[in-house]
Amino acid sequence: MGEILFLNPVFKSMIWGGNKLGTKWGYAIPSQTTGECWAVSAHPNGDCTVRDGRFAGKTLSGLWADEPGLFGNAGGAGGRFPLLVKIIDAKSDLSIQVHPDDAYAAEHENGSFGKTECWYILDAPEGAELVIGHNAKDKAELEDMIRNGKWDAFIRKVPVKKGDFIQIEPGTVHAIKGGIEILETQQNSDITYRVYDYGRLSDGKPRQLHIEQSLDVITVPAKSVEESIIGAQELERRFVKNMLNPIISCKYYRVWHMEVDGQAQLEQNEPFLIVSVIEGSGQINGCPIKMGDHFILPNGFGKAELTGNLRMIASSTN
Ligand code: ZN
Repeated sequence: MGEILFLNPVFKSMIWGGNKLGTKWGYAIPSQTTGECWAVSAHPNGDCTVRDGRFAGKTLSGLWADEPGLFGNAGGAGGRFPLLVKIIDAKSDLSIQVHPDDAYAAEHENGSFGKTECWYILDAPEGAELVIGHNAKDKAELEDMIRNGKWDAFIRKVPVKKGDFIQIEPGTVHAIKGGIEILETQQNSDITYRVYDYGRLSDGKPRQLHIEQSLDVITVPAKSVEESIIGAQELERRFVKNMLNPIISCKYYRVWHMEVDGQAQLEQNEPFLIVSVIEGSGQINGCPIKMGDHFILPNGFGKAELTGNLRMIASSTN
């Protein structure tokens, strides 16, 4: 049994960010517009360090490179850490955006990964909506709507609530709207093409848009809403307490939900397992854990004993 790898998150100030990562989550945030907590990341734009123990202070990218056995050699030779887990606090709307797939990113973005991502909605105000997909029926209409700024007709808003789960394939137009908090599990990539930014200014200037790249990568027509969202009620029906419950498996990751009520066991048989505590507090193998903690159970960890009242989202590579 290996050591539990607790990580120190990296925070990002964003024009749309708020302060809930401080007030609600208890993190030491850098500003009152902190939009993102990179909770488990080995990306050069935000590389988490190990909090304590034998590897204290070491970056996740360094650990991945130097101690591949901790991760079941999941990357193969020279591969990058595959996943990135974030908490996002959107005080106001994020820009309307889209991500490329691996092939497009490799060719146009210096060999970067593309980005498939998924969201577990941690909190959402009454009547909350997100942008998922668009209403253009073909490429010509897509171009017309984007080049001529027909945003109301273009973007597809869908209602969401706490506990919903959303899978966002590359090519899917998407945007988080103000008031929503999510836990995002994604490919380890930071490539985003901004389609529309509501005409906002950042430091007196509009942020850069990526119209040509967006037109290249947006899927037309968009996937249906039903194909993208699993509702909270449906998930609650499927979930069994005190067990890891699968939510999704795609080419890049698997994501699970686990609610611990009292006492539970978890058998870690994955190459490695990323765990984020999103509610409550308790212990893992006698070690205290609470909302806002993020850790990795390394390869061969075996059985973990959990106690307390906890809600967690876990993930591993596929
Ligand atoms: Zn995205």
